[in-house]
Amino acid sequence: TAKSRSKSNYAYYHASLSLKTETMLKLEQELKQGIANDEFFLVYQPQISCVQRNIVGVEALVRWKTQSGTIKNPGDFIPLSEETGLIIPLGEAILDMACSQAKKWEQAGTPIQISVNLSPKQFQSDDIVDYVAATLHRYNLSPTLLELEVTESMTMDHMDRSIDILNKFRDLGVSLSIDDFGTGHSSLSYLKEFPIQRLKIDRSFIKDIHSDAKTEKITSAIIAMGRHLNLSITAEGAETAEQVSYLEDHHCSDIQGFYFSKPLSPEEIEANYFMNKKNSSVSS
Ligand code: C2E
Ligand code: MG
Ligand code: MG
Ligand code: MG
Repeated sequence: TAKSRSKSNYAYYHASLSLKTETMLKLEQELKQGIANDEFFLVYQPQISCVQRNIVGVEALVRWKTQSGTIKNPGDFIPLSEETGLIIPLGEAILDMACSQAKKWEQAGTPIQISVNLSPKQFQSDDIVDYVAATLHRYNLSPTLLELEVTESMTMDHMDRSIDILNKFRDLGVSLSIDDFGTGHSSLSYLKEFPIQRLKIDRSFIKDIHSDAKTEKITSAIIAMGRHLNLSITAEGAETAEQVSYLEDHHCSDIQGFYFSKPLSPEEIEANYFMNKKNSSVSS
């Protein structure tokens, strides 16, 4: 009967709910341990210029090597980190690792800009600008070698405050980009208010360039608009030669996608991109 069915659904629902809570609590505990034990590391995905086909930057992407040895992707732990506030210490560790790596590459004669993702809670925290400034200072890193990625959604809630923070970052000399562009609650008016240098077109657009005419039109319009505003345009997630040549034909600035490379270890970046490049700038 309907009644007994709904009753058993109810029981099932509760069992799975408490199971979920237990799993979350366990993960939260493991995250805390993992942060204390330095189990997180960064991989770097090359950004390749459309015209010259050289590496112009890398995006730092976090990975977690857990006690059991498995490597977890950010999708498995960034949301809970954000929810629990653990993203604050984790985000600091990520910024440290990225700046340390940028400094190593600068000192090796192969300076390259590293992009670091900021999470909403990090971006809204009171001392984010101070933390970035202190970290740059601690590594004696040229601010031009750091780019911070923010999303549309995380800036829309407190518009005035966001503009203020972005301007402070800008005053520090770091670069700023809008990540996953086109997917958030955006207002085009912020494009003229935000002191950003770059738009990163979300992978969901690039994926459908050749299968959906509207997506194709939107993508070419984003590129054109960005160029008119003197912004660099990075296409995320290009996987095929057709997508790459489309982006090239439409004057996209650079491409970050599996077609060129998956995220790599620092050693792999050096072996694949920095050979014979010592003492000559590798960024554009
Ligand atoms: P995102 O910032 O948009 O980063 C790009 C994601 O797309 C990366 O996934 C990258 O591996 C993936 N990707 C790049 N090219 C391709 C492609 O051609 N095909 C496919 N299928 N995927 C591609 P990843 O590393 O799993 O990161 C996912 C998201 O997690 C990131 O999206 C970002 O929002 C977040 N994230 C990653 N690292 C960090 C971090 O250090 N801090 C914070 N707060 N968030 C991070
Ligand atoms: Mg990103
Ligand atoms: Mg993105
Ligand atoms: Mg993202």
